Amino acid sequence: MIANSLLENDKAHWIHPVASWRDHEARGATILRSGKGTYLTDIDGHELLDGFAGLWCVNVGYGQDSIVAAATEQMSRLPYATGYFHFGSEPAIELATKLAQRAPGDLDHVFFSLGGSDAVDSVVRFIRYYYNITGRPQKKHMIALERGYHGSSSTGSGLTGLPAFHAGFDVPTPVQHHISCPYPYRFEGDDAALIASSVAELKAKVEELGAENVAAFFCEPVVGSGGVIVPPKGWLSAMQAACRELDILFCIDEVITGFGRTGPLFACEHEGLTPDFMTTAKGLTSGYAPMGALFMSDRIYRTIADATPPGVSIGHGMTYSGHPVSAAIGLEVLRLYEEGGLLANGVASGAHLAKGLEALRDHPLVGDVRSQGLLAGVELVTDKVAKTRPTAQMKLPQHLADIGYRNGVVFRAFGDGIVGFAPPLCITTDEVDLMLERFRKSLDELLTIKEIRDAVG
Ligand code: PLP
Repeated sequence: MIANSLLENDKAHWIHPVASWRDHEARGATILRSGKGTYLTDIDGHELLDGFAGLWCVNVGYGQDSIVAAATEQMSRLPYATGYFHFGSEPAIELATKLAQRAPGDLDHVFFSLGGSDAVDSVVRFIRYYYNITGRPQKKHMIALERGYHGSSSTGSGLTGLPAFHAGFDVPTPVQHHISCPYPYRFEGDDAALIASSVAELKAKVEELGAENVAAFFCEPVVGSGGVIVPPKGWLSAMQAACRELDILFCIDEVITGFGRTGPLFACEHEGLTPDFMTTAKGLTSGYAPMGALFMSDRIYRTIADATPPGVSIGHGMTYSGHPVSAAIGLEVLRLYEEGGLLANGVASGAHLAKGLEALRDHPLVGDVRSQGLLAGVELVTDKVAKTRPTAQMKLPQHLADIGYRNGVVFRAFGDGIVGFAPPLCITTDEVDLMLERFRKSLDELLTIKEIRDAVG
């Protein structure tokens, strides 16, 4: 009874993020009630192994009591402190310090946002400010990747390279551009050729726009929402080198990849890179409270600070920038990654996941598997030789969501037949096996659907 009225009230009143409103009205929500470790339980008592850490964010797993204690202590002592007007709070300062100490190179300055979208948005604003104040106001164009995701703010959605975020929303704007996503599975040629092709495309785009008009290039170290696409090793370094040569800023969006998702604390550590800006969110607080953080290089920070006269405010900020409860949570989350062994566990379970994924290659529907740490993608095709994507009429994501639910596993089925995994870093190797076993069973069940079976032949 309660469940029924919740379902009806949900349909009647809650506009869900990134949903087909009509499908949601027809299907209704899976209403979650509790979580422990890697598992979720819904209001019907059905248990699910969460292979997606909520929305690739609950990196420490559910039910971490020490985080609840840290939040409770901060909330009862001082629930809010602004960062405006030169006020501050202990946890926000401590978190900014610890993050700066751990961030690559001279990314010494941290601006707190509420999540990833406004972290990206803040970078865009700071970049505009930087070029305006240093006498290069014509540098406005920004380039990102097709299939990239940089949030759904009015600016970031235009940097995002996914059609669903553009259609009907008047983005990309005329100063936002995209180049091809480095997609090894669908590229004709080896890794070196793919890297060379991305660099050439970036250079051609900058030449077309005029380097004097281009401000920055944005990318994710692993393209996440665009289908968990892992670029070849060396790709990120080559893109950074090209940006330096072209005199454009290099901005890495680590909203998904940050905080141990791919192994190290930040994915740019794989190649020893220091971007000009780095955005993070999700794993920063592991979803226990909203918070994002952007990292700015010392060079850019100093230039902006020195070029802005004393007494002139740099007008960018939000009421909840550096929220003390979120910051207290962030500090405890960081402690769990490091002293609690979660980063190390993520690396071990990530290696186990990579092996388990390889074993899926023999499945009739699996065209490709790829992963970095505990971030993985499985690309489903109906013809392995032609690499044919399933059609929209096959409704693969919808079927997979329902079948996965019945089999007690959560993963993310993207529209074009790609399935993403990003379990909490606390996942054990046995749980990785169970997650993949339930996924394989779900794929087998997909093959019992006539249109899909007929397409595979
Ligand atoms: N950037 C990347 C790479 C993301 O994956 C996301 C969200 O998934 C965002 C930005 C936007 O973050 P948020 O949803 O917290 O606004």
